Amino acid sequence: MKYLSPILAFVAFLLLNACAKPTFRLIDKPIIFDEERKQLSLEYLAKRHGIQQQQPYIKPKMIVLHWTAVPTLEATFDIFNPSLLPGRPDLQKASRLNTSVPFLVDRDGTIFRLLPDTTFARHCIGLNYCAIGIENIGNNDLTKAQMKANVQLVRYLKRHYKGIEYLIGHYEYKDFIGTPIWKETDPNYLTGKIDPGKSFMRKVRSRVKDLHLKGSPGLGGE
Ligand SMILES: [Zn+2]
Repeated sequence: MKYLSPILAFVAFLLLNACAKPTFRLIDKPIIFDEERKQLSLEYLAKRHGIQQQQPYIKPKMIVLHWTAVPTLEATFDIFNPSLLPGRPDLQKASRLNTSVPFLVDRDGTIFRLLPDTTFARHCIGLNYCAIGIENIGNNDLTKAQMKANVQLVRYLKRHYKGIEYLIGHYEYKDFIGTPIWKETDPNYLTGKIDPGKSFMRKVRSRVKDLHLKGSPGLGGE
């Protein structure tokens, strides 16, 4: 009898652990955000989006999910880290600001924050001025842990930024052309995107249904 209560306590401990929600692991791993990146961000906002601002921050209305097509976190970090865009002449014509996102999700679901949540980042033509980007390490092979981390991150962002109304996959961005949300001064500046895949978006959306986030206009607002 005297062993019963420690055993019960242990069983309760196991049960609690089994029921606990997965840990939300967010690690700050900042990329360079120097004066040059700040000025290039303000220039991008003015030239591409037609928005004059003094500070490179956004009022988020949307979350855009991506995959990196680069297999490791380290390689991806090195790509986003410099302020200036390396190579990619098609993108350089539009701006020399390097691409980046505030959030990078590793294969095991660990979330790295590269920039403060609402810092302006170049990741989605026409929508950067209002969109928070989440990049997932990988290709069309994103993991279940990444899917769960995206769900948690979307919930975290919606909790902190009430103005967020939309959740889209990068491949859906062109559906906003012609709507008031689309802001890009050159109608020919467009790139083809398939990330992060329809099945990944379906899975994430089905798990955050209760947040009532809208999709692209092509989805009929679902
Ligand atoms: Zn993308």
